[in-house]
Amino acid sequence: MNSALQGLMQDDFPLTLHHIRRRMRSCSPGAQVTTLTPGGSVERASFGEVSERIDRLARALSRLGVEQGDRVGTFAWNNQRHFELYFAIPCVGAVLHTLNIRLFEEQLTYIVNHAEDKVIFVDDSLVPVLEKIAPSFQSVTRYVVMGDGDMGELPNAVRYEDLLEDAGTGSFDYPEVDERQAAALCYTSGTTGNPKGVLYSHRSISLHSTATLMKDSTGLSSSDRVLAVVPMFHANAWGLPHGAALAGADLILPDRFLGAEPLAKLIAEERPTLMGCVPTIFLDLLRYADGHPDVDLSSLSNAACGGAAVPKQLMKDFEERHGVRIFQAWGMTETSPVATYSRPLEREHDDAYWDDRAKQGRPLPWVELRLIDGEGGEVPWDGGSTGEIQVRGPWVAARYFRDESGDEKFDSGWLRTGDIAAVDQKGFVQITDRAKDVIKSGGEWISSVELENEVMSHPDVIEAAVIAKPDERWAERPLCCVVLREGASTTAEDLLDHLRGRVAKWWLPDEFAFVEEVPKTSVGKFDKKVLRSRLTEGTLEGRVLVS
Ligand code: AMP
Repeated sequence: MNSALQGLMQDDFPLTLHHIRRRMRSCSPGAQVTTLTPGGSVERASFGEVSERIDRLARALSRLGVEQGDRVGTFAWNNQRHFELYFAIPCVGAVLHTLNIRLFEEQLTYIVNHAEDKVIFVDDSLVPVLEKIAPSFQSVTRYVVMGDGDMGELPNAVRYEDLLEDAGTGSFDYPEVDERQAAALCYTSGTTGNPKGVLYSHRSISLHSTATLMKDSTGLSSSDRVLAVVPMFHANAWGLPHGAALAGADLILPDRFLGAEPLAKLIAEERPTLMGCVPTIFLDLLRYADGHPDVDLSSLSNAACGGAAVPKQLMKDFEERHGVRIFQAWGMTETSPVATYSRPLEREHDDAYWDDRAKQGRPLPWVELRLIDGEGGEVPWDGGSTGEIQVRGPWVAARYFRDESGDEKFDSGWLRTGDIAAVDQKGFVQITDRAKDVIKSGGEWISSVELENEVMSHPDVIEAAVIAKPDERWAERPLCCVVLREGASTTAEDLLDHLRGRVAKWWLPDEFAFVEEVPKTSVGKFDKKVLRSRLTEGTLEGRVLVS
């Protein structure tokens, strides 16, 4: 007989998106969603207006025959309509399935058919991409086109605004949903084999978005203006739309205008305080800002960067030259995605401070992690020993959607991340590599991330990506692909000189490849797979041997 005494709190109060939806209307009706439109102007709507449109949309979804548990796809950029879908779909009990618009056609076909999407909402600017593959979708019965542009050849298509118009005004009788019910679905893009679906619950999204409001995490609050550059089709845009809705912060959405120039202009005009994006976009923005000193980006006092290692030099340059403060986060689609955040403990801006900034940070409250070595043993948190990160917590995936083969990713309640890291005694994680990117030289490991970071601290280097090159004696040796600043005449020897003293001697690359651009993945990360295959095929340009 269990003699434990039960608490007497409202433990059954459901953690669902209904709360966030209701809160937008009741607590922050005046907060604004701003969307950049073609031509550089913006469209604005208050949370009050957006809430009304969400109710209409919910009614329209019901009329379209969307039922509890149905998957509803979105093929869209970051804009107000996508934001409305973020709430209306889960709140009618269906599942918001954000499709990554940059994937290959075969991958999209696989994903839509695997998820069995019933309806797909598509931006008019993306109709030409979707209509080509639409005939291969087996379960889609309706398309909803957002915007006034051409509906193309999409079968059974209807316009978003017509749907809303027909749905009429007035409150909508939302169904109750269980907090463990699925709310959103996003397929991972980085792994080998078929993409894997991560199925977020109302509970996981509620807790994750609450975590974005913590000061030691994203620190999002009602006084923020949040610029979500990170795509809404990838890992919930890091929880920024949900977090902004929960906090009552203004949300600024760049739609498809992700170039440095429109972004810089948007920042200068809209004065966001918080922005989230991957390092490659920040690198472009830095280059632009350096060339246009009249553009003021200094409102960004709390930018978030992640998705790939954030070069220390990038953070320093932005802070020193443009008054922009960038903090690093780590996570993955499977972790909703934010799992660690780097808020330095040191107060002085000395080396220790910058070392913490360059790490991926400490696990957020409720996230637990451990490091596991090749033999399955736990690795101590001593700041030097490395192992694979395993992670668990209430917003971490327990398994993949309709997947029989993904078991190797889960280990008795822990998610195996495939990221290699060291953790120091303060709990700061430092990713040294993806397991598949690490360079195994003579039985020892060379961290491609650390090497890239050091190469990128050279003032003439814009991008650096280190890959393993097969070597008879050492098994693998580092080859560093570099993109130089326009007009720079830096040589491989100069780069070696720069690295000497910064990394161990045996880490020095054997070879450099001066490339025009490092190829990027569908979510803007360095695509080392492409570089590796160019190396194998002998098509990697600008190679210079140095030893
Ligand atoms: P995705 O699921 O596509 O978001 O990719 C997740 C992967 O991105 C992680 O497993 C890491 O390998 C990488 N990643 C994310 N954030 C960071 C970071 N701050 N530093 C290094 N790698 C990162």
